[in-house]
Amino acid sequence: MIEPSARVQALPGYPLAEIPSIKRRLIQAGVDVIDLGAGDNEAPPPAPVVEALREAVRDPALSKYGFQQGLLQFRQAVSRYLERRFGLRFDPVSETLPLIGSKEGLAHLPLAVADPGDVCIVPEPGYQAYLGGTLLAACEPHVVPLRQEQRFLLELDEVPPAVLSRAKVAFVNYPNNPTAAVAPRDYLERTVAACRRYGILLGYDNAYCDLTFGGYVAPSIFEIPGARDVAVEFFSLSKTFSMTGWRLGWAVGRPDLIAALTKVKSYVDTGPFLALQQAAVVALDRAEEFVAPIKATLQERRDACVDSLVGAGFPVRRPEAAMYLWVPLPPGVASLPFCRRALEEEGVAVLGGAAFGPAGEGYFRIALTAGPARLREAVTRLARALARVREEQLAPAS
Ligand code: PLP
Repeated sequence: MIEPSARVQALPGYPLAEIPSIKRRLIQAGVDVIDLGAGDNEAPPPAPVVEALREAVRDPALSKYGFQQGLLQFRQAVSRYLERRFGLRFDPVSETLPLIGSKEGLAHLPLAVADPGDVCIVPEPGYQAYLGGTLLAACEPHVVPLRQEQRFLLELDEVPPAVLSRAKVAFVNYPNNPTAAVAPRDYLERTVAACRRYGILLGYDNAYCDLTFGGYVAPSIFEIPGARDVAVEFFSLSKTFSMTGWRLGWAVGRPDLIAALTKVKSYVDTGPFLALQQAAVVALDRAEEFVAPIKATLQERRDACVDSLVGAGFPVRRPEAAMYLWVPLPPGVASLPFCRRALEEEGVAVLGGAAFGPAGEGYFRIALTAGPARLREAVTRLARALARVREEQLAPAS
């Protein structure tokens, strides 16, 4: 009999998987659905980037296979961006690699440096590609819970030394999805130090580095001395430029580590569409100009949504970065049933914290993907759903 492999069977269900079909059914039934589930800003990509793509698709040379090398101009634009943004120099050819979205690079990372049975350190709650890539490479995940009292920081010093000795990869992501936490410099220093001590590749996911508010500037891991020996950093055009569906990101790091990831990818894909890479040169070269309005929009949404949540009795923090609110639920309210009811009964899609792993229980995630008025409306509905859940909890069993 043909059955899914043990690796596939080990993968938990993908958290967003069922939202689209429930949403379709509700919309067909006339419900006004507010979808704050996926981290997919409804703003269009910058117009000059779209224009550049139009031009690029007319060039037959850009309809050919890109292979892993891709378009040199894209890699050079990546290098210019990294230098402008972080003051860091990377060789466009040997130290950068175009990705079909940063997700695939992250998911392929364990295959590049770890063997079956090796440990990969994975945050929980966390972006699903870390666990998925670990399990698909037949590696052993060591899951580290991110806790509010530790500012949601993945502390390698608290992982047992016996586990660290077997670890090949540690996935670290700040600004963080889903908690919206940011990493202080001393945290990054001790994380780099631990990776150097134990010879662990630090897979640093910086997908949200440009979505920051109120003067906070997110660093690159390579600003930390010694990081070049152990880190590969992942960047994405998805969130920064509202280009999620375009599927374009890049990895940067030590030439031999980039070469290992390149080798994996050369067997499973043939690189991102060259026309996209050409258009992305415009995005990267004018990043500051394009990102400013996206950040301003997100900050306005963050403030509207945090204010209404606090007003409705949800004790949520005002995050300094990313596009999410990580909202605590009252003790005893399970996140997945609550979110299911919020969708079915109130037409609001948000993600239950437990969808990001058991350590996410007790929270739900709001993606700031609608305007302030819709967010306020969503909070009113969420508060109604929560009030009903609590009334039922308090009602005496008949
Ligand atoms: N990393 C994090 C933390 C994310 O939340 C996401 C997407 O939601 C990604 C990486 C992947 O982004 P993409 O594959 O679109 O570049």
